[in-house]
Amino acid sequence: MIIDGKKVSERIRNELIQNVEDLKKQGVNACLVVIIVGNDPGSKTYVNNKRKACNEVGIISKVYELPEETEEAELLNLIDELNLEESVHGILVQLPLPKHINEKSVIERINTKKDVDCFHPYSVGEMFTGIGGFEPCTPAGIIELIKETGIKIEGKECVVLGRSNIVGKPMAMLLLRENGTVTIAHSKTQNLKEVCKRADILVVAIGKAKYINEDYVKPGAVVIDVGMNRDENNKRCGDVDFEKVKDICYAITPVPGGVGPMTITTLLKNTIYAAKLQRKIPTI
Ligand code: NAP
Repeated sequence: MIIDGKKVSERIRNELIQNVEDLKKQGVNACLVVIIVGNDPGSKTYVNNKRKACNEVGIISKVYELPEETEEAELLNLIDELNLEESVHGILVQLPLPKHINEKSVIERINTKKDVDCFHPYSVGEMFTGIGGFEPCTPAGIIELIKETGIKIEGKECVVLGRSNIVGKPMAMLLLRENGTVTIAHSKTQNLKEVCKRADILVVAIGKAKYINEDYVKPGAVVIDVGMNRDENNKRCGDVDFEKVKDICYAITPVPGGVGPMTITTLLKNTIYAAKLQRKIPTI
């Protein structure tokens, strides 16, 4: 089975249109602000995709494009203003930031009620303890994709390859919340092939083009490829060698068209959640 992230995300986004409309009836126009500093073309594309997705579901999107030489203090001042602005519900600072700006200070400055990326330590804590709050965008999208296969996560051997704060670690937490038995593997893991081969559900987020082949995959496994790389022909590809793995696994996400669209869909969900949270509208 090829898990079609575009289709799943389209279905969820259609549901979100109704949520946005319901909010409007209550006088709330959900609004996301994205701040981008500098001219990184990849970041600009991501920001553009986020803007388009907001437009699609009726969320107001505002983009602040700041020059590369913006001082950290200026950026923090802008965040302070947006934190206080009632009409702004979600604030996202596109990463990476230029080297002279401290990412941690920036992330920690965002009002925790507007932290739609779920990067603030407070949001991470909420997610870790499982008491609600924002969902980490890429991992939450992946949970939806796994559910789409009809496979139950509960009781399954889940291996997450990669331990970044953005993907690997929160992914492991969400799989644990779903009652998976979770192993986190990384560059220092010994016998990596054997560890990966134990997985009923294998999530790969290492940033290495086509690194994972059939030697790492248990027959019948669900394989989720988070990687976004370019291959030797400059074609977009994941961390998994799709051609070598697709016939032995039960289900696999393609790149592009797998995890990517779901990440933005969770961001939209989080913006709606933020709007409800700030206007004290029940979030469930
Ligand atoms: P990252 O911060 O660079 O982390 C990579 C992780 O992979 C690290 O934990 C590293 O281990 C581990 N690793 C690297 N090479 C390895 C190897 N040969 N064997 C085992 N482990 C290895 O990357 P990231 O931010 O998590 O992103 C991973 C990939 O996902 C990238 O391609 C990124 O572009 C993509 N991504 C996609 C989306 C999406 O929406 N589709 C969102 C975010 C990221 P150590 O910790 O030991 O160094």
